[in-house]
Amino acid sequence: MERSIRKAAKRALEALLRLLYPNTCPLCGRVTRERVCPACADAVRPIGEPICKKCGKPVRDEQAEYCRDCSRVRHYFDEGRALWLHRGQAAWSVYQFKFHNRRIYAGFYASEMARVHGAYVRRSRVCLIIPIPLGRRKRRRRGFNQAEVLAGELSGRLQVPVDAAHLVRRRDTVPQKSLDPAARRENVRGIFAWTGCSLEGRNVLLVDDIYTTGSTLDSAARTLKKAGAEKVYFLTISIGQGY
Ligand SMILES: [Zn+2]
Ligand SMILES: [Zn+2]
Repeated sequence: MERSIRKAAKRALEALLRLLYPNTCPLCGRVTRERVCPACADAVRPIGEPICKKCGKPVRDEQAEYCRDCSRVRHYFDEGRALWLHRGQAAWSVYQFKFHNRRIYAGFYASEMARVHGAYVRRSRVCLIIPIPLGRRKRRRRGFNQAEVLAGELSGRLQVPVDAAHLVRRRDTVPQKSLDPAARRENVRGIFAWTGCSLEGRNVLLVDDIYTTGSTLDSAARTLKKAGAEKVYFLTISIGQGY
């Protein structure tokens, strides 16, 4: 008798907690019983072939090796992949993650990234995950670095250690959003420094939230290569459709 009362009380408490803190879809914010609501599971699909061999962006022509951007710009990173195109629900989700403190979404992104790109990362033989750091001012204002939170979640799923301490930003930059691609490259030139030990002969994986023109990742990759890194790969949550 007592046991069934306890059981009923537990069930009631669980129901109450669900009512107070219902699970919401990380792609649209609607309450759902699933991890992702059925509408988003249907609408938001990982980027599939054919893709640019450099940045992982979809290309229209199956024969094309590189996208328009990558055939024009010389990148310092070797290559990388993104999970989704930066549009619709994916863009909404990343915005919530960055600016509305939805750190909780990082686990979802990381498990999707590991599911879709886990084999790619293993093939790349990276031995270190390095998140793109935020400037000090931005970090203070936001309270956390979204790339670092994501890198931490990825580290466990990919079984690769993370170093969030030794790639540092030397100065704050003006927001990249307001700049054209050439100005973006200039804006982030030389902003990073590597303060860790030599990366001689090692392959590393940079992690960031959004790939727009790749100029921030390029600048970081250039710094890591100066520090001895053999190959620099990247993973981002989303990627712009391009210029
Ligand atoms: Zn949804
Ligand atoms: Zn590309």
